[in-house]
Amino acid sequence: QQKGQVLPKQPELRVLHHKISGYVGFANLPKQWHRKSIRRGFSLNLLCVGQGGLGKSTLINTLFNKQLYDLEGKPTEDLAALKLEDSENLSESLERPQGEEQPSVKIETISTDIEENGVKLALTVVDAPGFGDAIDNTDSWVPIVREIDSRFDQYLDAENRIDRDVIQDHRIHACLYFIEPTGHCLAPLDLEFCKAVHQKCNLIPVIAKSDILTDEEIEQFKHTIKTQLDNAGVELFEPPQYSLDDKDTVARCAALCTRMPFAVVGSTSEVSTPDGRRVRGRSYPWGVIEVDNESHSDFVHLRDLLIRLYLMELREKTENVLFERYRSEKLMSLGIKQDNSVFKEYDPELKQKEEKQLHEAKLAKLEAEMKAVFQQKVNEKEKKLQKSEAELFARHKEMKDKLLKQLKALEDKKHQLEMSYANQSANSPAQTKKKGFLR
Ligand code: GDP
Repeated sequence: QQKGQVLPKQPELRVLHHKISGYVGFANLPKQWHRKSIRRGFSLNLLCVGQGGLGKSTLINTLFNKQLYDLEGKPTEDLAALKLEDSENLSESLERPQGEEQPSVKIETISTDIEENGVKLALTVVDAPGFGDAIDNTDSWVPIVREIDSRFDQYLDAENRIDRDVIQDHRIHACLYFIEPTGHCLAPLDLEFCKAVHQKCNLIPVIAKSDILTDEEIEQFKHTIKTQLDNAGVELFEPPQYSLDDKDTVARCAALCTRMPFAVVGSTSEVSTPDGRRVRGRSYPWGVIEVDNESHSDFVHLRDLLIRLYLMELREKTENVLFERYRSEKLMSLGIKQDNSVFKEYDPELKQKEEKQLHEAKLAKLEAEMKAVFQQKVNEKEKKLQKSEAELFARHKEMKDKLLKQLKALEDKKHQLEMSYANQSANSPAQTKKKGFLR
């Protein structure tokens, strides 16, 4: 600082106490998510399996409060066209091993959009008419398992495409398995089916037409079924519990789990109760069974599990556990090894790695196929060239022979002419003279 230099006056320092608003805005994220979800809509692909006449179509109509199936269990008229279209597509995607008989179990699909308070649900119901209806039902679950697998394959293929903006999810999110209300125990076919699918889809068993059993019979039947399924190592869908869940949620979840298999009653008809109410239910000489009354059947609990409370969990488990398992098994069958801990915890990085491996394996397969086709084409071309070379050679030889013959003939002619000319000259002196003169 130089002497005498006047410093500019420093502004007076003040400490500003400014209160920053605590609201940043990310608390609004659920609203954004909500808006987005409403715009996109939701989807549920439901597989219904059970013998004919167990009330499958009635229960579906009751669950979604929509007449998807008519009284005969056939898709209603406006859905019939859709059903046909879908089943055609599916039959194309199902690769039946050569020589295998046409199965008595068919796969039929219906799709419809349902809207409730502005929320759209794209519902697909996959039915397997013919299941358990034959005299010999051995392996009648095979076409159903194949259907579940083909839907996984479809999704896997779509994921590996370059353009994967809009992937249609046709994977089965839940399987309702209808158990005959015998009150005794599960039939061998029931166990076979459950064992075959429990690792591939969220299995939810239901005791069909439970109104024909008493409460005690239902309790006993449920106990027997659970024991049988446990002994067979069959896993049923259980709603997940999170550490942040409140007490009520935990209790509700536990109650749902203990009620499985759900003893259900279905009906879309309205009947009058003795106290004059109009309810969905079934009327009997001894009284009315109310579908939406939780003390009459487990229907309400099934609807809670399937739609009201855990639809998103069903979808998430399909995506993160069941499909991941299928993908890993597929990769392993292609010879790619992987850490099985992926089943326990979802790891996006690992998923990406697997996707890459799967893609590379596919590329390698494609390359090998292309090489084989190329080699085949080269071989064919070579054979063709060799053939035409031989033909050309034969033609050349033939021409050469012909020319040699012609040459020989000409030489003979020349020789003859020379001879006749020599003869003529010897016989005619005048000619010779003339020639001598001309020379
Ligand atoms: P699906 O062949 O499995 O689709 O069976 P349906 O839904 O067509 O039902 C066959 C018959 O069972 C129909 O007469 C229904 O009215 C009847 N039904 C459906 N649900 C129930 C039920 O919960 N209890 C009783 N008792 N009958 C039912």
